[in-house]
Amino acid sequence: MKSCRKCGEDKPEDAFTKSWWRDQAGNRKYTLRLDCKPCENSKKDRKAIYRALTIEARLIYGSRNRAQQTGIPHNLTAEDIIIPDVCPALGIPLIDTPGTRTDNSPSLDKIIPSLGYVRGNVAVISWRANRLKNDASPLELERLAAYCKTPPQ
Ligand SMILES: [Zn+2]
Repeated sequence: MKSCRKCGEDKPEDAFTKSWWRDQAGNRKYTLRLDCKPCENSKKDRKAIYRALTIEARLIYGSRNRAQQTGIPHNLTAEDIIIPDVCPALGIPLIDTPGTRTDNSPSLDKIIPSLGYVRGNVAVISWRANRLKNDASPLELERLAAYCKTPPQ
């Protein structure tokens, strides 16, 4: 019997997926996954449901989680989210790849970060631009760009 990390129930070994590996002598061994099979499947279902959502819904879902974690306001609905073809910051194409994030993934930028995810304070930019910007102010970004152009010798 083994207790599932997720549901906490004690279940027989065959309720858990085995992860196979080899020890130094080359013998095949296995360890049991931490979550039972039904719990792993419900996780897969949730991922599939997430991937099937529209890009607007996924952006809202993610931003609502971040807003809750950091205690900033959130009142966005799908109509507040307008996705351009190219990133307005970097000019690279915005390409939605549900379930994986790339430099080109659309992401929600808070124009004034402290105001949160509220109507009129968000724009959709590339994940790369969002990552580079992080919480930098325009002045900090100008100074950073100046430094990159002419680093001290
Ligand atoms: Zn479980």
